[in-house]
Amino acid sequence: MSGIGFGIGFGIGFGIGFGIRFGIGFGIRFGILGLIAGACVADVPSDVIAESHAAQRDEAQSVTPPTIATRAARLPDVVPAITYDPFTPAAVLADRELDLPPSFEAGAVLHRGRPDDRVVALTFDDGPGGVTTRRVLRVLGDHGVRATFFVLGANAERQPKLLAAIANAGHELGNHASSHTSFRSLFPSQIHAELDQTADAIESVTGLRPRFVRPPFGRFPPSSVDLIRERGEDIVLWSVDANDWAGGSAESIAQGVVAAAQPGAVLLMHDTAPHTADALPLVIAGLTKRGFTIVPLSELLARPAFR
Ligand SMILES: [Zn+2]
Repeated sequence: MSGIGFGIGFGIGFGIGFGIRFGIGFGIRFGILGLIAGACVADVPSDVIAESHAAQRDEAQSVTPPTIATRAARLPDVVPAITYDPFTPAAVLADRELDLPPSFEAGAVLHRGRPDDRVVALTFDDGPGGVTTRRVLRVLGDHGVRATFFVLGANAERQPKLLAAIANAGHELGNHASSHTSFRSLFPSQIHAELDQTADAIESVTGLRPRFVRPPFGRFPPSSVDLIRERGEDIVLWSVDANDWAGGSAESIAQGVVAAAQPGAVLLMHDTAPHTADALPLVIAGLTKRGFTIVPLSELLARPAFR
């Protein structure tokens, strides 16, 4: 259809144009906006959703069906307003940047461990991602490091063997929902369905249901905090974003993460990003040199990863 043709042309044109002028991040954003605007009926496969995590960060509402978007607009648009510059190599999120309402009791939303010990946790979002995930697993295995993978149910269902490989290597699995749709765009029943789908996929290979939940984009309506806690699960965000999804060399990604790490940090990386596995040996070496021990999230947060 001409709409789709226009959308593809418009998207690619804008993507390349803005990419050259303003950097790849903007290029991808405008490219995807163009595609959505023109094609508008495109059913984006979830592996594409995972790969375009960065670009969708601000566009999640745009791809939401109109009926849901209308209802979501009535939801309070409050937490957590995570703000950072996506073009810096790595960003540290201070407590204040999480912007939780004062009525929330401490510990309702976790984003780092106790700051007393020089321990950090490595977390990987958006997989399992095929070859990029296998490369990350190899590096972790070579260095004897255990990490936590927040998987998407849609990806996990397609790659049960890779999901099992992650678990069998001694890593922890967390719930990143299924389709990477912002919880702010979903009804409570849809949030349950997203979390159940991913938990089912994890249970099918481990026999256990995950306890740690990381909402897509780190965004969620305040009402979903109780919803998730009543499920017996914990919301776990992060304190350092490697920004590996935004591009950059392995060296710049690693330098940013190592410099930003602080005692108790939860480090966010993506096993779907192309340079993450290359950055990982440098990250592990740099953290070790700074005296940090890398531990699984359950150890950092002193609570079980499964229930
Ligand atoms: Zn994600």
